[in-house]
Amino acid sequence: MTAPTTFVDAFDGFIVDADGVLYRGAAPVPYAFDAMTEVAQSRPWCVVTNNAANAPGVVAEKLRGLGLAADDDNIVTSPQGAAVFLAQQGIAASARVYVVGGAGIDHALLEAGFVPVREPDPSAVAVVQGLGMEVCWSDLANAGYAIQSGALWVATNPDTSLPTEQGLAPGNGALVAALSATLGRQPDAVTGKPEPLLFEVAAQRLAAGTPLVIGDRVDTDIRGANRAGMESLLVLTGVVQARDLATLVSVDPEFRPTYLVADLRALADSVDGARIADTEASGGGALGEVRRLLARSWAGIEQLSESDPALVDACRALAEDLRHP
Ligand SMILES: [Mg+2]
Repeated sequence: MTAPTTFVDAFDGFIVDADGVLYRGAAPVPYAFDAMTEVAQSRPWCVVTNNAANAPGVVAEKLRGLGLAADDDNIVTSPQGAAVFLAQQGIAASARVYVVGGAGIDHALLEAGFVPVREPDPSAVAVVQGLGMEVCWSDLANAGYAIQSGALWVATNPDTSLPTEQGLAPGNGALVAALSATLGRQPDAVTGKPEPLLFEVAAQRLAAGTPLVIGDRVDTDIRGANRAGMESLLVLTGVVQARDLATLVSVDPEFRPTYLVADLRALADSVDGARIADTEASGGGALGEVRRLLARSWAGIEQLSESDPALVDACRALAEDLRHP
């Protein structure tokens, strides 16, 4: 009997979301760090984050603090994606770029050879707008003046809200929307998830031809992976919970993950067993049943609605299993 093909066998790089996959707020997600430590023995990996406020070193330090060996090269940020986009547009290194947002943006621009500026500068050829807790009216006004003078406008990410302990706070997308309302137009580019650019930058850094994207949200992680032409794994440790899975029967193909697992221990198991597929191999139990029903519906074999009793029961049973492992 041959050993099953595991995820580490099947993929040559791992591109991982952070919040909801590796940690939740300040707490590590159960099993995730052991699983990633195991992956890191034989495969390159990185975290891809839409957060523009921090430089890679800050994120790496947080991961190390929680027990995962990580350095700056393991972190790909949305401002780094913005810097790649500017270079792709033929903006010369040494060009001046007006910055709205946190220090992570200055870091990414400097690293790519650009000159970040925070004072109004008529020679600025581009504006990079990301989230920062100190962003104020004059930053937005100056960005708007530069854009009206012809500067390229790049937003690091489209997230409209930011969850905090007191509730939702404005995310970068909300501040981009304020400037959009002012100017009557959208940014020239958005680099973070669900756009594919960050995943492409990550795959290139890992030199991975067949990377796997791991995430907890279908609207950003999974959608971005599909747009980048990469296989994706949805893990139930963050935003999408077992009870939400029934809603996936009717989503557009762009939002459909390739694999579905409860937690990252599955990375050491059979890749075929985790696939959302209508086969015997797709696993037993409630999780296997959910995978099978989603696959049948997506393939048009059986048109299920999200209130289909078999699907609702399977999701409920899965939620129960995950509560009582
Ligand atoms: Mg997440």
